Amino acid sequence: SQDKFSFKGAPGQFRNFQKDDFEADWIKVAECRFGQVYQVKLKLWREKFALKSFDTALKIIEEVSNIAKLKFKYIMCIYGMCSEATALVMEYMSNGSLNNLLVSHTLMWPKKFQMIHETSLGMNFLHSMKPPLLHLNLKTSNILVDDHLHIKISDFGLIHWEEGMNKTLFIEQLTARGNISYIPPETFTQSPNPPGTTFDVYSFGIVMWEILTQQKPHAGCSVTTVLLQVSQGKRPCVELIPDQRPPECEQMISIMKQCWAQDHTERPQFSDFVRQTESLSEFLKVPGPIHSSKNGDAGQKADYPCKEDILSMLSKKDFGSFRHSVRREHVYTQFS
Ligand code: ATP
Ligand code: MG
Repeated sequence: SQDKFSFKGAPGQFRNFQKDDFEADWIKVAECRFGQVYQVKLKLWREKFALKSFDTALKIIEEVSNIAKLKFKYIMCIYGMCSEATALVMEYMSNGSLNNLLVSHTLMWPKKFQMIHETSLGMNFLHSMKPPLLHLNLKTSNILVDDHLHIKISDFGLIHWEEGMNKTLFIEQLTARGNISYIPPETFTQSPNPPGTTFDVYSFGIVMWEILTQQKPHAGCSVTTVLLQVSQGKRPCVELIPDQRPPECEQMISIMKQCWAQDHTERPQFSDFVRQTESLSEFLKVPGPIHSSKNGDAGQKADYPCKEDILSMLSKKDFGSFRHSVRREHVYTQFS
């Protein structure tokens, strides 16, 4: 058939897989509002893939086929589609989403910094396209984690702003996905400006907060409360970042605050701070007491995992020796 032909077809083309190309046992990984995610195994290549099906039309899949050509270490690789299942076929990420990982495991500081840096690299890549490719759906459930705890950004290109689009509809599209916490305040105002790169920068600021605190932003708040508070300039509480932290964390916090600035023109671009996140994540990786703090207080570094813990960057919650000083009950008083 035509489809079979395209599976065998030209190298690098956007393939149309058939249901029959996969082994019969599809394992459901997640059930979402707009479709399902399955772990599938391709008969021919003997490898696992993720198949994300959409309840809605093929339009999304057609659009994604245009950006599927993009290849970069920190963005999800899309192999093709399965039009029979109205689905996209992509790389399978064995450690699931960062959203889930932050709940189930305690991450060490070097790993947190590395994940922040890798996310900023992925976003910097998308924004370096001409014109910039806006994600508009950046959140911890769209940051996926591989076998080796490196991340890839997924689900870019699902949400679009179209010329002359009704803003209310746009917001509804986002809130229906449970994205309220990641939407910058200017989206809620009368301003007719379409979202730009600073939209994603704001979402990234929230992602940073989630990685640093391992908490959920605006937990327990209604959509209206979040909308009102955020519009008034309130943000997730910085005090929820554990006190026991490396001194370099202050620089991360400073980037985070700039990213979620109320005035979007004050937010930096990813290209403005990738070098900084790079050196911060490199710094924590460097082993040994040689890198004691400036005032010579080597003891300060012993308070958080460093050299030895690089190999065990995360521990299952409840068994971890570096548990957060912040308790879950405090989550409900989140605004600062
Ligand atoms: P959105 O549609 O706005 O992206 P979402 O990210 O919450 O919403 P899905 O993208 O459908 O929902 O993903 C749901 C879950 O499925 C993810 O949180 C993740 O745990 C899992 N998942 C998605 N893609 C993959 C993948 N490629 N590999 C492994 N697990 C995945
Ligand atoms: Mg997703």
